[in-house]
Amino acid sequence: MIRVLEKNVADKIAAGEVVERPVSVVKELVENSVDAGADSVVVEIRNGGKSYIRVTDNGCGIPREEAETAFLRHATSKIVSAKDLDAIKTLGFRGEALASIAAVTRTEFVSKTRDSKLGVRLLIHGSEVLQNSGTGCPDGTTVIVTDLFYNTPARRKFLKSDGAESGQIIDFMSQIALAYPGIKFRFINNGNIVFSTAGKGDVQAAISAVYKLREYSDLVPVCSSKGNHHVTGYISRPSLSRTNRKNQIFFVNGRVVSSKVIEKGLTEGYRERLFEGRYPVAFLFIETDPSELDVNIHPNKREVRFDRESEITELVAKAVTEALGTKEAVTEIRNPFRDPTRIEEEKLSENQVDIKQILTTKRRETSVKEEQSDYRCSENLSWEERKEEEKHLSEMTRDLNCSNRQPQKESTVSFLNREEKESSLRPRIDISEPVLRPFDFSELTLTGVIFHTYITAEDENNFYLIDQHAAHERVFYEKLVAEYMSGEKPRQIILTPIIIEVLPAVKETEYDWLDTLTDMGFLVEEFGHNSYVVKEIPAFMTISESENFVKEFVDSLSEGIKLMNTVVLNRLITRSCKSAVKAHDHLSMEEMKSLLSQLSACRNPFSCPHGRPTFIRFSQYEIEKMFKRV
Ligand code: ADP
Ligand code: MG
Repeated sequence: MIRVLEKNVADKIAAGEVVERPVSVVKELVENSVDAGADSVVVEIRNGGKSYIRVTDNGCGIPREEAETAFLRHATSKIVSAKDLDAIKTLGFRGEALASIAAVTRTEFVSKTRDSKLGVRLLIHGSEVLQNSGTGCPDGTTVIVTDLFYNTPARRKFLKSDGAESGQIIDFMSQIALAYPGIKFRFINNGNIVFSTAGKGDVQAAISAVYKLREYSDLVPVCSSKGNHHVTGYISRPSLSRTNRKNQIFFVNGRVVSSKVIEKGLTEGYRERLFEGRYPVAFLFIETDPSELDVNIHPNKREVRFDRESEITELVAKAVTEALGTKEAVTEIRNPFRDPTRIEEEKLSENQVDIKQILTTKRRETSVKEEQSDYRCSENLSWEERKEEEKHLSEMTRDLNCSNRQPQKESTVSFLNREEKESSLRPRIDISEPVLRPFDFSELTLTGVIFHTYITAEDENNFYLIDQHAAHERVFYEKLVAEYMSGEKPRQIILTPIIIEVLPAVKETEYDWLDTLTDMGFLVEEFGHNSYVVKEIPAFMTISESENFVKEFVDSLSEGIKLMNTVVLNRLITRSCKSAVKAHDHLSMEEMKSLLSQLSACRNPFSCPHGRPTFIRFSQYEIEKMFKRV
């Protein structure tokens, strides 16, 4: 017999599509807060969100008479007719989230609009409204969701450990906090503050607040545009890379997306600056005409399709290349002597906020518990779950102490500053003024050398220390790689050949590495028992450089490194370059100049092939700060 399902059965089924796991609830509630125009959002979870999720915002709120309607399926204030679907500016529009959440949880909803004196409080358990009453409360909305899937045990079984669920929520919260740096986000997990952003519109400040890693506190700003497409954001210097893409977050028109097209542009921009298998850190915001975009309408999917994909790839690659060629990409020393009294003050005020926050949170919890005595108490985590959770948290909070000591960077990028409240809370893009100027070697004046190792130089507003050894290594490395890649290899015959001796094991594999050396521009021939003679060397090398290089090269081979692929080869070249120049070699002014001009021709002049900086920058401003002149 065919029948129409009862409402509560239908609701539960439909809810499954929206609410898959705790992170879906958090996502829907937080997106509602953003849509409500909030500029402060507090999210608190317990047990990976399974037992408790609270989202509090200071947005527009819902009038009492509309509150219950908001919980009906397909109830939305965001679109009216089908044609509105083409120009969606809000994160939600399907009108399903609240209905779905309420169907599979116990939900408490408290809301007040600015112009009403009294707010509304709803208590809904599994779609059933148990209470609708007036209440005194602040402007905005609080939704407390407890006992996810309490009435659908089968679905509860599919939830992962608390640690795994909270991990997903942490990822989501990190992303949304970066997507909306103009909103103050505070995120609490099991009573601990995971992060809290300032909400002043500064993306770099938001990144620092979320990741708390010292090395994430001065990334390189990116800003570029072409036609309708704009890209801004922050990326890592080549000296900072990761083994996976986890720290690459892309936003397109305010939504977090995964996109091979953007990834490709990023890889292209870092080409030859990172070893294979290493990935840069990148937070990129792309703004484009919504009509050129196909955002998959499914709420849980993050794929996005651009009409003109290659343009996006090119733009991202160009933006990255430009950013890595600016002064900002040069490692900068910032005021190491921050006034200790001020640090204490800052800490204190931070703590005060935290304590207040925790207190109000505690109060809420007790009130929830009083009303609902069957709310599960959540302290019985298994040992594994605890471990997992701890691991995730410690990843998030690693280097916390370090980053506290690190001076907070003021944004140097004016386009990211938030202006008026009515303006978008997303990062602002103002392309009218070029913010990123390429580093110009011709502006450098050499002033000398210290410790026979560091060349000193200045330009209009900066003082530089240049590590002559690291610089030489970079030059040497790029020449060698270019040589290896190129078809013609100008060589020079040397009058006194270089003799090298190798271990028998290395000799055995000569078919492997002799060709490699030939490809780099050496002519090496067998010379008796376990010996070789180098008769020709690359044109750009001196004899002593060649000798050091070849010896270092075969030495690293004897350590059992096999020349399997370009990654290994690259490492080998990198290692062998070390021997090229010694730190204390005396260089004449002319030699220094020539070194710098060769460096300026490098694709990646600001770090040696091992990732150490070649340049360190002291801005006049920071120097003046150290002398307390500003
Ligand atoms: P959607 O977001 O797709 O419109 P929801 O079910 O998430 O659907 O929300 C239904 C409606 O409830 C929204 O359209 C909005 O008008 C209102 N609403 C939900 N959350 C909030 C909030 N935090 N502040 C103000 N209004 C809200
Ligand atoms: Mg919504």
